[in-house]
Amino acid sequence: MDNTLEKINKEILNCQKCLLYKTRIHPVPGEGSSHARIMFIGEAPGNNEDKEGRPFCGASGKILDQLLESAGIKREEIFIANILKCRPPENRNPLKEEIDVCSFFLDKQIETINPKVLCTLGNFSTSYVLEKYGLKDQVQGISKIHGNIFEIKTLLGIIKIVPLYHPAVATYNMNMMETLKNDFQILKKL
Ligand code: URA
Repeated sequence: MDNTLEKINKEILNCQKCLLYKTRIHPVPGEGSSHARIMFIGEAPGNNEDKEGRPFCGASGKILDQLLESAGIKREEIFIANILKCRPPENRNPLKEEIDVCSFFLDKQIETINPKVLCTLGNFSTSYVLEKYGLKDQVQGISKIHGNIFEIKTLLGIIKIVPLYHPAVATYNMNMMETLKNDFQILKKL
C-alpha cells in the first residue's frame, strides 16, 4: 500500500480522539486501490465491519457488490471509506462532534488518493462532501439529489461528486435496487 495511506491507517488504528474508541472492536480505515479513480464514501462501520475491520462487508456490502458488478466496476479498482472510522453504538447516526474530529482522516485519504469521482452514499457523506467543497447551498435530502453530478475545480484538478442512496436502503426496500442500479450506470459514463 502507498506509504501515506499506510501512515493514515496506523493513525486510525490508534485513534482515541472521540469516545467511539471505547465501544468499537476494530476501527475501519477503508480499503482499495491507492490509485482509485472512484472513491465511495459511506457513513460509518456497522456491526460486521466493526468485527472485521473492513468497510461494507455486511448486508449493505453485499448490495454494494451487486451494484458495482452491475456497473462493471471491480471492488479492487476503487477505494471505499466512511466518514466515521469507528462504529457508533447501536448503529446510531454519527454525531457532529464525531464527524468534526474524524473527517480529518477522510480528508487525508481523499488528498492522497486524489480520485476523479467521489460517490457519496447517503445523507451524511453527501452533506459532508458537498460542504467540504463549498457547495453547502446545494445540500438537499438524498431523495432529491441522488444521481446528480456536481463538478468542482480543485488545486489537484476537476472532481465530480455523485450523491447516491446508501445501499442499506435496498436491504429494507428491494424496490430501491432499480433506482440504485440506474444511478450506478452514471458511473460507467464517467
Ligand atoms: N454502512 C456504511 O455506511 N459503511 C459501512 O462500512 C457499512 C455499512
